[in-house]
Amino acid sequence: MKPTKTVTCDVLVVGSGAGGLATALTARHHGLDVIVTEKEPVFGGTTARSGGWMWIPCNPLAQKEGFKDSKEAARTYLQHEAGNHFDAGRVDAFLENGPKMVEFFETNTEMEFTLGPAFSDYHPDAPGGTSGGRSIVATPYDGRKLGKEIARLRPPLKEITFLGMMIGSGKELLHLRNTVGILPRTDVRCG
Ligand SMILES: Cc1cc2nc3c(=O)[nH]c(=O)nc-3n(C[C@H](O)[C@H](O)[C@H](O)COP(=O)(O)OP(=O)(O)OC[C@H]3O[C@@H](n4cnc5c(N)ncnc54)[C@H](O)[C@@H]3O)c2cc1C
Repeated sequence: MKPTKTVTCDVLVVGSGAGGLATALTARHHGLDVIVTEKEPVFGGTTARSGGWMWIPCNPLAQKEGFKDSKEAARTYLQHEAGNHFDAGRVDAFLENGPKMVEFFETNTEMEFTLGPAFSDYHPDAPGGTSGGRSIVATPYDGRKLGKEIARLRPPLKEITFLGMMIGSGKELLHLRNTVGILPRTDVRCG
């Protein structure tokens, strides 16, 4: 089909999941003109359906809470877990920039994060592993602030919701369990 309109930008982002939107926000913050394209009628990709947990060693929230951790310990853990797939360059870039990313989003956007203090590494007893402090989750956001745009946000998967709530939404489900007493323990996590 012949294009009917030409638009120009500094950065063209393909896809509106966390990767795409984080890129778009960062580029915009640095003064660039950004266009985000999305092939679906809704935005958010897989990210909009996820549990929202992020594994960020030495994140600012854990540091504020006094968790003892180091990039070296996290690197040792990743090296142990990844085996032959360990990629030193990428791991070091991740460990260096993960905490900066958290700080950037908390300072420059409406995003906030919550520490999962008891959310351990998958193998806490492995070399460099910890029993908590490396996992943070996106704090619930009042969808009403999105106005009409909320209709274009990809909804969660029905299969992993209960009464409209994500199974990963530990606190809400815990509250429901405590109120009506019908559910097993809900310190279940998603991701
Ligand atoms: C139920 C569930 C729970 C999860 N929980 C967690 C968790 O707690 N923690 C965690 O770390 N990970 C979790 N994950 C995994 C995590 O959600 C994904 O790894 C992450 O969201 C991927 O982000 P992304 O930006 O790379 O891709 P996506 O979020 O999938 O975004 C890609 C976007 O690109 C669009 N796109 C693709 N091709 C084109 C094109 N040609 N033109 C325009 N647009 C295009 C897609 O439609 C999509 O919107 C979970 C996944 C699921 C399914």
